[in-house]
Amino acid sequence: MLGQMMQLPLLISSLIVHAERHHGDQLVVSRRVEGDIHRISYREVAARARRVANAMTTLGVQPGQRAATLAWNTHRHMELYYGVSGSGRVLHTVNPRLHPDQIVYIADHAEDQVMFFDMSFWPLIQAVAGRTKTVKHWVAMTSREFMPPAEQAAKVPGLLCYEELLAQSSDRYAWPVFDENTASSLCYTSGTTGNPKGVLYSHRSTVLHTMAAALPDCLGCSASDAILPVVPMFHVNSWGIVYLAPMTGAKLVLPGPGLDGKSLYELFESEGVTISAGVPTVWQGLLAHVEANGLKFSTMRKSAIGGSACPPAMIRKFRDAYGVHVIHAWGMTEMSPIGTAAAFKAQHHGLDDEGKLAVMSTQGRAVYGVDMKIVGEDGAELPWDGAASGDLLVRGPWIIDTYFKGEGGNPLVKDAEGNGWFPTGDVAKITPAGYMVITDRSKDVIKSGGEWIGSIDLENIAMAHPAVAMAACIAAPHPKWDERPLLVVVKKPGAEVTREELLAFYEGKIAKWWTPDDVVFTDAIPLGATGKMQKNKLREQFKAHRLPTA
Ligand code: ADP
Repeated sequence: MLGQMMQLPLLISSLIVHAERHHGDQLVVSRRVEGDIHRISYREVAARARRVANAMTTLGVQPGQRAATLAWNTHRHMELYYGVSGSGRVLHTVNPRLHPDQIVYIADHAEDQVMFFDMSFWPLIQAVAGRTKTVKHWVAMTSREFMPPAEQAAKVPGLLCYEELLAQSSDRYAWPVFDENTASSLCYTSGTTGNPKGVLYSHRSTVLHTMAAALPDCLGCSASDAILPVVPMFHVNSWGIVYLAPMTGAKLVLPGPGLDGKSLYELFESEGVTISAGVPTVWQGLLAHVEANGLKFSTMRKSAIGGSACPPAMIRKFRDAYGVHVIHAWGMTEMSPIGTAAAFKAQHHGLDDEGKLAVMSTQGRAVYGVDMKIVGEDGAELPWDGAASGDLLVRGPWIIDTYFKGEGGNPLVKDAEGNGWFPTGDVAKITPAGYMVITDRSKDVIKSGGEWIGSIDLENIAMAHPAVAMAACIAAPHPKWDERPLLVVVKKPGAEVTREELLAFYEGKIAKWWTPDDVVFTDAIPLGATGKMQKNKLREQFKAHRLPTA
């Protein structure tokens, strides 16, 4: 017997329709590429998104075809999120920090029909425009006065101006109703190994993920909040925040290209931001600015940090020096991205500050919709005892089934009941209370004498040293143990610390045999397109390093 409730598909357009009707005056504030601070209401964003939808027809983009963006977090990018996906086309957000060759590769792979770009990326557009196979229109997301000079523009056939395109398109449009499993957006993994692979989200997966992300123990966002995604809209849909703000009626503050500590801080304060989200490297820049200038956050109460491990020292500093609660979260492109968040349970309320910090430093527990397990080499599930560590597998309605165009075959692993699980490539343990702790990515694991050493623990300890700005721990070859940990450190400007002092800093904090065998100092650690440390590059750089213990 079927239920007798209305059959309304979960569509992305419903989010902006809701915001328009129920939070129409709420603001979207953007720091734009033109340099201004721009304010627009959800009502106006919805109208402009409908213009985008009509423009898609004018540009000849068919339902299901891909329209790409190379853009910062601004209201225009948001209008594309709704206008492109809402009208049944697929929004392909391209990471502008990729190499031009990679951008050409993924634009061809996705068969992008049109590319919308911020003028910051005009040099990049000039480099790729003649090389892509399917892009027919290049739309500069600006108004006429900021368009490129005529002699440059002539070199990019099909160049259009976004504001003109919108002005020529009607804001009358009825959002189509279609199957909620229709593709909505496309994101490529950064491809640290091999070619980038496409993850194709659906309307259903996106709306369900947004609901879960808004829950109190996840981002916990409401109509009383002002939320600022530092995480770019080209990185897994800014972790869903551009969907979540209209869903909850929160004010949305978009930082555009201003991701340095000073610009972010100004926007936090001037717009009364209460919640933010981003990767640890960005928060480092913000904290450095705030510390150096003796500033405080007057409205910020919560910051979600993930994308790579958030050092406990950062969680502590936010809490003890600034009264900001950190939600440490974990996920990946293949998971839309949110999988876990480190919120307390009632049993933690009696803990002291150190005990609470320990819970907050885990990668967190599964949000509803995501199931997870750890397995050993034989594929058998390992206990949640906080000690056993193994490969982390996940499943749920916003987790990938297959990559776009079947790239790489079927990625899922079957269990005894025939259910598919996605292997995350992370190595983790899970506590009895269900909190997951990532010890490593499987490709970064250090294997010493057949035993795993968790590089993230070693990095977290180094990061707690006052002279350390950034630390990476990598495997260095060792004749007896196969591999031993080598700590690579970038010092804070003006700070001094020796190899011996750093090694002594580990005493009593970990098992003695985990202590790195050596420390090397370097000027910078290479970061990938999403701000993560590229340990494969570091391993290459230090592959000839001879450990003193070797
Ligand atoms: P890529 O694999 O292209 O870097 P993602 O941005 O999807 O793509 O990265 C996902 C990976 O980032 C996870 O598998 C995990 O290794 C790492 N990660 C994300 N959040 C955390 C976290 N809170 N702690 C540790 N690692 C994390």
